[in-house]
Amino acid sequence: MSPDSRREFIRSLPLADLHRHFDGSIRPSTLWELSERYYSAVPGLDFEQFRRYLEWDEKQDRSLLDYLDKFHVPLQYTQFYDNIKRIAYEIATDAYADGVRLLELRINPLIHRRAGLTTRQVIHATRKGLSRFGTEHPDFRAGIIVIAMRSHGGNLARILLREVIGEKEEYHAGVGVCGFDIAGPEAPFPPVLFSEAYALARKMGFKRTAHAGESEGPERIWEALDHLGPQRIGHGTSAGADPELMKRLARDGVYVEVCLSSNLQTGAVAQLRDHPLPRFLDAGIKVALCTDNPTVSATTLSGEYELAMEAFGYTEADVRRLADMSRRGTFLAAGPDGQRVAKWMSA
Ligand SMILES: [Zn+2]
Repeated sequence: MSPDSRREFIRSLPLADLHRHFDGSIRPSTLWELSERYYSAVPGLDFEQFRRYLEWDEKQDRSLLDYLDKFHVPLQYTQFYDNIKRIAYEIATDAYADGVRLLELRINPLIHRRAGLTTRQVIHATRKGLSRFGTEHPDFRAGIIVIAMRSHGGNLARILLREVIGEKEEYHAGVGVCGFDIAGPEAPFPPVLFSEAYALARKMGFKRTAHAGESEGPERIWEALDHLGPQRIGHGTSAGADPELMKRLARDGVYVEVCLSSNLQTGAVAQLRDHPLPRFLDAGIKVALCTDNPTVSATTLSGEYELAMEAFGYTEADVRRLADMSRRGTFLAAGPDGQRVAKWMSA
């Protein structure tokens, strides 16, 4: 199969991205424009140089720290309602153009409150941007996953949940919050710190995922399963080294959100052919192929599918199965719009 026909085939599938971060998916051109408007454009810097602050550069970037560095520049512009709304709309636009028909966008509201927005205003702006795009494109569905930063601790995670409950999907006609997640440095903040927050999220009716086993070993994934009861695990890369854990994930039907480029860049795997994706599938684990951060990782969802085809020799039938499995992992409720989800679930 030629690269062109491969690309065409992938684009013809209704794709779902269940793991995409707001802050890592912003158009560089939008940030460039905002940097000029907000008097923070560095004199003499051109657009190509500016991009390097935002996107992974194979030639000079190496580590998780290099990766996390890319999130600093956007934060000064994402403190304002209209910017958040515009960016959410553009993220939906770019995803749709790439073939994504179901998008779960995740955001941590607390880091967008530095100019005085409330948690609900941050989520409201995100909802509005995604809803506007959804109204223009009825074959597109979106939801929001609220992230609690691990470094903010379990108490703030519980407060955050109470703040966002009114933004829940079932209370709104368009887009709403459908899930809860924890993200950020794994080592100092083990899953057990968030067991009460996850119990509360469950009580509130939120679906749950958790970043785990990206920079830490499989024991953190065990812990996340035992203490947090998530339906999905973000990355879960280190599970590939633990056959018992893979059995457990398969037995419990816990999805793993796999992000190939991101895992390679942060060093979660040394090379693509070491990635546990094929082992996950062989073990009967449900997998959703996702982007993590299209801008930071300099990728697209169709690009991640291409990568999987190249690295693991997947056929069209394999890719169709993977795309189908990814769609079925969604947290989006089958509410009034549920029929549409059900229809293309079986597409
Ligand atoms: Zn992530």
